[in-house]
Amino acid sequence: MSFQINLQPSGHHYSADDNVSLLDAALAAGFVLPYGCRNGACGSCKGKVISGEIDHGKAQLSALPDADRSKGLALFCCATARSDLTLECREVANAKDIPLRILPCRVQHIERVASDVIILSLKLPTNERLQFLPGQYIEFLLKDGKRRAFSIANAPHQDELLTLHIRRVDGGSFTTHVFEVMKEKEILRFQGPMGTFFLREESSKPIILVAGGTGFAPIKAIIEHAIEQKHSRPMQLYWGAQSRSGLYLPELPAKWPLDYVPVLSNASAGDDWIGRTGFVHQAVITDHSDLSEFQIYACGSPAMIDAAHRDFIAAGLPEEEFFADAFNLAPPGS
Ligand SMILES: Cc1cc2nc3c(=O)[nH]c(=O)nc-3n(C[C@H](O)[C@H](O)[C@H](O)COP(=O)(O)OP(=O)(O)OC[C@H]3O[C@@H](n4cnc5c(N)ncnc54)[C@H](O)[C@@H]3O)c2cc1C
Repeated sequence: MSFQINLQPSGHHYSADDNVSLLDAALAAGFVLPYGCRNGACGSCKGKVISGEIDHGKAQLSALPDADRSKGLALFCCATARSDLTLECREVANAKDIPLRILPCRVQHIERVASDVIILSLKLPTNERLQFLPGQYIEFLLKDGKRRAFSIANAPHQDELLTLHIRRVDGGSFTTHVFEVMKEKEILRFQGPMGTFFLREESSKPIILVAGGTGFAPIKAIIEHAIEQKHSRPMQLYWGAQSRSGLYLPELPAKWPLDYVPVLSNASAGDDWIGRTGFVHQAVITDHSDLSEFQIYACGSPAMIDAAHRDFIAAGLPEEEFFADAFNLAPPGS
């Protein structure tokens, strides 16, 4: 059975089946409510039931004591609807509303998808989930005090594991460790989520996404989120790499409901490439001489982002419609 849920003070509405948590139904409808563990233990999703009947589900007493229940409070990650409801809770409008956390994690899988790219899957402690916006990143806190930034490649609705796409940096201390020493079950610590590279959902403009190498990671998160949310905005993805192996998940974009343009900048005869060639951002301009009606999300090396910004603005893209993350190396010595 399905019920109507009215959120206050925003006035947003969504429907929730009686076997789906109020949080999951809100996320599925595109409304981001605050949450943490999604398991009734942390209390981050606590809000007030102003009217209607709920089932508290597996909410733990430590997170939702009886005194809270008698005030009409509930944990929306566990509560399910038993009637139409009016709920009072703050919605997450943008990244600053999501708490920055330090969490341990365990390496669950290490998958080598190219000679210089590893997909790392990280498991958080039981009862912990990281809340983030698609496109944001985390920073590993290393034992020597160094920090290393990596974008989250999964969308928030698939948050059982955090996945990262890690490119090996010649002489890089952390990525050399990942490629040569790291084993499954290794424990790491990170801080996150960070960054303002996330999908602006209030816009209705068509979207162009431009990825260079492992810059594909946050772009993948944004696309999978948009698909999950059934966005009607047209999306076009340009993914560039030097050689064919740099497009390290070749079958994935073909499964997405968007126009996919792979581009190689340095294809060799062995690549057997008959697709587009050159710099990935130039392929965008070749296809769209006027970018004034678009919104663009770009992620990759600092050189690629600089060139893309300069050339896209020259092609009419409004400055405020360009969103980017540049994969800078950590400053020397840090
Ligand atoms: C917000 C953000 C998100 C990121 N997300 C990702 C991601 O999802 N995937 C990913 O693969 N990377 C990502 N990066 C880049 C990643 O953080 C760096 O590659 C990381 O610092 C590598 O760590 P390292 O310890 O192996 O190398 P470092 O020790 O940081 O680098 C090695 C050292 O070698 C030198 N060096 C090596 N190559 C160069 C070069 N080309 N130019 C100049 N100096 C050089 C530098 O002195 C540098 O200090 C991201 C960066 C940022 C800022």
